[in-house]
Amino acid sequence: MANFGEQVQKRDPAPKAYLLDIEGTTTPIEFVTKTLFPYAARELGPFLRESLNDPQERLALISDCCLLSDEYEKETGAPEWPARPDPQGAQGYLEWLIELDRKSTALKSIQGRIWEYGYQSGRIKGEVYDDVWPAVRRWKGSGAKVCIYSSGSVLAQRLLFSHLPEGDMTADLDGYFDTTTGPKRDPESYRRIASTLELTPADVLFLSDVQEEVDAAIASGMRAVRIDRGLTEDASGVLASFRSL
Ligand SMILES: [Mg+2]
Repeated sequence: MANFGEQVQKRDPAPKAYLLDIEGTTTPIEFVTKTLFPYAARELGPFLRESLNDPQERLALISDCCLLSDEYEKETGAPEWPARPDPQGAQGYLEWLIELDRKSTALKSIQGRIWEYGYQSGRIKGEVYDDVWPAVRRWKGSGAKVCIYSSGSVLAQRLLFSHLPEGDMTADLDGYFDTTTGPKRDPESYRRIASTLELTPADVLFLSDVQEEVDAAIASGMRAVRIDRGLTEDASGVLASFRSL
């Protein structure tokens, strides 16, 4: 079934909104693991030093380090952080958290600011598959809304799409949802998103590489199709790209 996407379109009225996952759908999964995370790990030391010299950044960093210090209290086996919660000396503990891939709120906040500087200075560029922006323009041209739903924060989503090598795609995007709306495997999250867009779930088409997310969207009444970027062409029930949509 080479044109499954076209068949989706013919069977149903055109979606009034498209909801896109990022990792593995609009963007290679490796972008996060091979670009974003190594960049934040590499820039951590310089970021900590430079933030202490900037009055505003210093305040944000101290606030993160207070939170980080609370998290540290519950640790066993963490590297020494003698002057806690002073940001000086926090580097070893932060590197340890990165190494363990720990979901630390304070670490996430610090990484978010490192990426923000990276994007703003042009040292990091966002990345999307080459069929993504043309498809988004096509959908916008037909009057549909296009929104993002990703477990990365809304700030991280905006940074990625506003700093693409091709330019700033955010003018073509109508909304951003992250896990503050709810987990991606919970049908209720998709109902909430449709209602925020003032649409019924059936008006929205969700695209994701993760079957459990597709299933959750379908359970909410939303339309959803799985994307498999590893395929060379569309297959039965799965799309290789956005080209046929
Ligand atoms: Mg994904």
